[in-house]
Amino acid sequence: MTMTCSYTDAANVAAPGPDGPSGPRAPTAEQLAWIERENARLEGTPAEEILAWVNDSFPGRFTMATGLGPEGCVIISMLAKIDPTVYIFNLDTGYQFRETLELRDRIAEKYGIVVDLQRPELSVEAYEALHGGPVYRDDPDRCCLDRKVTVLHRVARHFDAWATGIRRDQSPTRADTPILRWDKKFGLIKVSPLATWTKGDVWKRILNEQIPYNPLHDQGYPSIGCRPCTRSVLPGEDERAGRWTGRAKTECGLHTAAE
Ligand code: SF4
Repeated sequence: MTMTCSYTDAANVAAPGPDGPSGPRAPTAEQLAWIERENARLEGTPAEEILAWVNDSFPGRFTMATGLGPEGCVIISMLAKIDPTVYIFNLDTGYQFRETLELRDRIAEKYGIVVDLQRPELSVEAYEALHGGPVYRDDPDRCCLDRKVTVLHRVARHFDAWATGIRRDQSPTRADTPILRWDKKFGLIKVSPLATWTKGDVWKRILNEQIPYNPLHDQGYPSIGCRPCTRSVLPGEDERAGRWTGRAKTECGLHTAAE
């Protein structure tokens, strides 16, 4: 795959954003144009090639965040072949299912890749004591902000690009997901190598290659987040219908645009 110029060739490095040097960085116009060009070029490119390209483009500055869903497990299996030293992390809110954490162990056994657990500053006990009980009950946006989004901000400032497993057909809010885009909220490039994949594509790959996956998927949980905010879904329901049931909330804030 040939590149006419790199992200850093386009205009040195991304400048600090309006929040100052420790806040999200802001790309130059040239960098934004480069991202747009590369995004158009990568549409239709196999996911493995996209991952290899982004890893080569940002050596040591490319990372992956995963909730250890089926898509994340597929990407980990690809990175195991491309470059197993890529830093992969999980936002460990303290509320995850036991099965999710056990899956992390199985991935380590199979691929030798230890998904790092990035945790909020406060333990669940300290957090709930501070707020007089579980925050997810009355203010899940605040809980996701404190236990996921803030943690991702902390990690993101050390990288230039991050990969996610989101797919266009997962939900209406994800239907426009590009392969590559500037992530204004976290100040780095966001790569979605499986954007064009279907749920069927993902499961075919998992079964063909015996990629470890969360056993809760066999018990009616197509999408798995934190235990208090995830339920199993009924036949015919949207695959993310079991997340934050009964609320307007559909995303934890990692994949929504900056305010
Ligand atoms: S998914 Fe629920 S428990 Fe997890 S961080 Fe968000 S609100 Fe809190």
